Amino acid sequence: MTAPEFRLIGHPVGHSISSQIHQRLFQLSHTNGNYQLMDVCPDELEATVEKLRNLSGFNVTIPFKQKIIPFLDEMDKRAARYGAVNTIKCENGRLTGYNTDADGFLHALTSAGIRLKGNVLICGAGGAARMMACEALERECSLTVATRTIGSAQIFADDLKKSYPDADLSACALVYASGSFDLILNATPCGMYPDVEGCPIPRQVARSAKAVFDAVYNPNPTMLLKKSAAAGAKTQGGLTMLVWQAAAAHEIWYDAKFRDDDILRICIEMEQILKNEFAQ
Ligand code: NAP
Repeated sequence: MTAPEFRLIGHPVGHSISSQIHQRLFQLSHTNGNYQLMDVCPDELEATVEKLRNLSGFNVTIPFKQKIIPFLDEMDKRAARYGAVNTIKCENGRLTGYNTDADGFLHALTSAGIRLKGNVLICGAGGAARMMACEALERECSLTVATRTIGSAQIFADDLKKSYPDADLSACALVYASGSFDLILNATPCGMYPDVEGCPIPRQVARSAKAVFDAVYNPNPTMLLKKSAAAGAKTQGGLTMLVWQAAAAHEIWYDAKFRDDDILRICIEMEQILKNEFAQ
């Protein structure tokens, strides 16, 4: 039997460890799937999607999580809420879009014993921030959104207000973030290799948080996580989210099921691969 074919499309995808993660997930579920990375220029998206229709499924990453939507035949309710898709299931040439980043994010918090509740600060106003904000507001958290300039945080907060009119929501610039938070969520690339000294918020705010999640997975821990862990916060990095969002895609594609300890083992292996590759 020919192996089911899967792809990741993005631009750039050169440093992604996704193919290693997916190959390990295929091994765990005794499936002979084939997962390849495809670097696709933004003006080639439509032609690429036509070629991918006859595969079993594919993932999309930056910059296509929103741009893919017009090419889909159907969209899962949660992906529609976030306005972003990262996983596509192909069936008889029809494409259905899902968002498994939320599965990854929620599993990552749970596995670190972090609860999504209380007074939450989200850094960033892109696709990942929107997913985190929706999940926080679904749980009635008080939310502060912070971006490099207050304008984009305000636009983001105003947009969220349309879906969550009763939410306790405020906006500020990252440099002026202040106070202490039950949970800080970083959904910006600040602190990502090679910017390893970067921290998106003032360090005293990082030090006063009870818990911190950073979507950045290289390095692990980031500067933000180091500062907050040193002051006693519970912390979690983005690698667990990355592995769990991939596992959730396999659940959608062919009903795979994974055990927490197997996923944890893959996280440890991937951390080692990153350490070797980037010699941290
Ligand atoms: P995105 O849509 O491009 O949004 C990025 C956000 O970060 C924007 O609000 C942008 O604001 C801000 N930003 C960019 N550079 C910054 C900097 N140096 N300092 C502060 N803010 C900055 O990207 P995304 O999809 O939401 O992803 C955000 C981050 O999460 C990325 O690092 C991505 O790799 C990570 N992520 C991780 C996972 C995982 O599984 N671990 C999954 C998804 C995303 P401006 O408008 O000011 O540029």
